[in-house]
Amino acid sequence: MSERGPRIALTFDAEHPDRPRWAPDNAERILSALREAGVRATFFIQGRWALARPETARRIAEDGHLVGHHSHHHAPMTTLTEEGIRRDLEEGERAIRETTGRDPRPWFRCPFGAGHDDPWVLEALAASGYRNVHWHVEVEDWEPWRAPEQVAEDALRGALEHGDGAVVLLHTWPDATADAVPALLVGLREAGARAVTVEELETLP
Ligand SMILES: [Zn+2]
Repeated sequence: MSERGPRIALTFDAEHPDRPRWAPDNAERILSALREAGVRATFFIQGRWALARPETARRIAEDGHLVGHHSHHHAPMTTLTEEGIRRDLEEGERAIRETTGRDPRPWFRCPFGAGHDDPWVLEALAASGYRNVHWHVEVEDWEPWRAPEQVAEDALRGALEHGDGAVVLLHTWPDATADAVPALLVGLREAGARAVTVEELETLP
């Protein structure tokens, strides 16, 4: 990776799939592609998913990726009460800590992005020590008709068009994403981009 190129944060929501076209080992395939390329990414982990896939959740941490929180039940934060948000965060945090050994604070991603621009939701997150990480680039990798080539091309183009500091939203479960990640990583390298975690967006020059 270039030392002066644009910093691009690949982020993966690790959660129970809600669409067809996914295989159980897709998250592992993505982790292997990242490891092979020597790239660290950010994984926003759903608590219930971590309990169902504890080995994969642990590998995310062991491979050196940044661990964030993606709620426990994956309900839109906008549908919960303040107390409901607090409890969901607590339950999810416990599951993430137990499985990954990591404290996900302060990194949080709202399920469906719902509430990312809602001051009330953001305050409720902050009360539990979290802040939401939204995204600049989304490529609908969750849609069953998306081909891997489209996902890779659109993610690369979107990231480079946004430039330094781009946060790219992806998911760990779609077939298209698992197939697209190797090409995306090659594209980023060839473009001279630096793949970083969302934490590194704040700490690296
Ligand atoms: Zn999600």
